[in-house]
Amino acid sequence: MLISKLVLKAKYSMVDILLVYVVITAAVFVVVFMLLPRYGPHTISRLTCPRCKKKFNYHWVPGASFISLYRGRNRRLKCPYCHIVSTFDVVSTKLTTEQARLLKAKA
Ligand SMILES: [Zn+2]
Repeated sequence: MLISKLVLKAKYSMVDILLVYVVITAAVFVVVFMLLPRYGPHTISRLTCPRCKKKFNYHWVPGASFISLYRGRNRRLKCPYCHIVSTFDVVSTKLTTEQARLLKAKA
C-alpha cells in the first residue's frame, strides 16, 4: 500500500518535472527564436555569392542561433539572386556597427 502510494507520488512529480521542463523549453524557444532576432544585437554580414559574385546582407544573431553551435563560423545559405546554396563565412565578413549604421542610412 505504501509502495503504491510512493509510486503514485513519483508519477505525479514526474509529470510536474515534465511540465516545468516543457514550460522552460517554450520560454527559451520564444526568447531565442522570436525576441532575440527582433530585439537582440544584430550582426550583419556582407556576403558575396561565390557563384554569381553578387553581394547581399545577411542578418544574424551571434550565439543565439543553434546552427552556430555546430557550424561555427560558416553558414549554408541560399543566395537571394541565383538561389544556389553555398557555404559562407559569416564571421570574417561581419560589418562593424558603424558600417551597418551607414548601410541602414543609405537604404
Ligand atoms: Zn548567387
